[in-house]
Amino acid sequence: MRFKIGAKVRVKNVYSGGNFDDGDVVTIKQIGNEDESDCYGAISPYDGLMWYLNEDEVEAMCDFCSKWDWGEASAAVNNGKFAHIYFISGASRFPVHKQFMYCPVCGAMNPNRIGEKESRE
Ligand SMILES: [Zn+2]
Repeated sequence: MRFKIGAKVRVKNVYSGGNFDDGDVVTIKQIGNEDESDCYGAISPYDGLMWYLNEDEVEAMCDFCSKWDWGEASAAVNNGKFAHIYFISGASRFPVHKQFMYCPVCGAMNPNRIGEKESRE
């Protein structure tokens, strides 16, 4: 197993039936279960329950977004036509709802925003 408990990983190519989507960023809570020793347990952002992921359904977040401070930049359109990227200066930080949704390099979801995704069955 490549990852340890507590590691943040990006979900990809889900096929084993866990309640995850490609691009979700989850924290590994458990390794193995009573049926299988070589899987990871993580909490679904959709139902709050523990689901299992195989080794080939998770990957490391890219170097960029594992180090990126998601609160330091935001995208905005002014007057309905001028698109900008804003960076914080000094004391303030962008609230979560103004932060980028996804890593611009690898497409992983901003871990701060996962709770915003609509809940589903
Ligand atoms: Zn990334």
